[in-house]
Amino acid sequence: PKVLRWFEQKCAGSKRLAEQAKAVIPGGVQHNLAFNHPFPLAIRQAEGAYLTDVDGNRYIDFLQAGGPTLLGSNHPAVRQKVHELIDECGPVTGLLHEYEVKLAELVCSHMPGVEMLRLLGSGTEAVMGAVRLARTYTRKKWIIKVGGAYHGWSDQLVYGMRLPNTGRMEATGIPRGATGHTQECLPNDLDALRRKLQLNRLRGGTAAVLLEPLGPESGTRPVHAGYNAEVRKLCDEFGALLIFDEVVTGFRIGMGGAQAYFGVRPDITVLGKCLTGGYPMAGAIGGRKDVMMSLVGGIGTTSRRAFVGGTLSANPLSCVAGYHALREAERSNAAVVAGRAGDRLRLGLEEIIRRRGLPYVAYNMGSIVHLQTSGVLLLDTSSLWKLFKVKDEARRRKHMMEEMGAAYTAHGLVTLAGSRIYTSLADTDDVIDDALNRFDD
Ligand code: PLP
Repeated sequence: PKVLRWFEQKCAGSKRLAEQAKAVIPGGVQHNLAFNHPFPLAIRQAEGAYLTDVDGNRYIDFLQAGGPTLLGSNHPAVRQKVHELIDECGPVTGLLHEYEVKLAELVCSHMPGVEMLRLLGSGTEAVMGAVRLARTYTRKKWIIKVGGAYHGWSDQLVYGMRLPNTGRMEATGIPRGATGHTQECLPNDLDALRRKLQLNRLRGGTAAVLLEPLGPESGTRPVHAGYNAEVRKLCDEFGALLIFDEVVTGFRIGMGGAQAYFGVRPDITVLGKCLTGGYPMAGAIGGRKDVMMSLVGGIGTTSRRAFVGGTLSANPLSCVAGYHALREAERSNAAVVAGRAGDRLRLGLEEIIRRRGLPYVAYNMGSIVHLQTSGVLLLDTSSLWKLFKVKDEARRRKHMMEEMGAAYTAHGLVTLAGSRIYTSLADTDDVIDDALNRFDD
């Protein structure tokens, strides 16, 4: 009640806009990560480590728009370059621009598995393209993903979560055929992966194994240290391509992504989020040159082609923003600085949890911090699925996360769904210490 009262008293402007939104926007919220309990915050200003809402309340921004703003919000050096580009040529022409090449060269110079790059409109699109590319190149059809991973909202890969007590998929409107060649393995279960690869060998073969290299939902359920290298070996043994979905980890774990961190080279890499520094149209497929060349061809040629497209893909605005954001990340060592902020925050959270004897868990991988407060931490997806069969357990957990998220907000902290925190270059020790006092409250 105290938290709800705070929202009522302090967020009248947000509430008004949220009510207005409901008339013309289904549910009143468009961004999946905009938490809406008791109603979504309407933001007027975003700068560095802070967000300010339409009522003038200031928050430490640990949502980071879901991950892309590694430099902090609205970085002035990047903004300046975007202004210059807009003045000179506007956001889009449909023709080649020098920054397309510069961005591709920069990404190729950092990511071990990326020899060529093709820009697309979003992470979702890029994963779709990567799967099509793998199928075209290998001439095989099966895709194996890891249970609980998020690879965007395309029909064939959308989150495999079943609604509690119903057995229905969370995402509906998808005919069974659309997921007919997608299989799931549990994270860390290499035996199950081998069995699927063996089975598929007898019926058309596996085109690719697709995974988030930190573990499903980018590290919420971490994989063990040798997992990626073992999957690499299995892919080589069975002639399947290895696709790393680095939409979250790319540039955030380091300029070379999780692939450089783990020393495992995927055949195809999917990028998004930090790729354009928070500016629109963040999505790309990168990979081995011979594989990437399967994107070329089609009409008038004899070669098979994995067709991808997008009117606004690779527009100059996205490219200039991405290039300068990544140059700034290079110059400032942003992944390391933000990672240290993540470590400091996690250590502080652990201290609070210990001191107060709370049944919570905090863990992090650099600037990706998880704070589990809604029940037992289940690292393997099968236990989670089992737990969700318990009546109302999923609903209870979601409700607790929403309540915690709202409580954090009322204390000046915006998080991702009350359970994930992204730190950025803008999170100085003072910002983190201030945040820890607020979490303690
Ligand atoms: N892959 C991963 C690992 C993601 O976390 C996301 C988005 O959160 C996507 C793909 C989809 O990217 P987008 O939201 O840009 O479509």
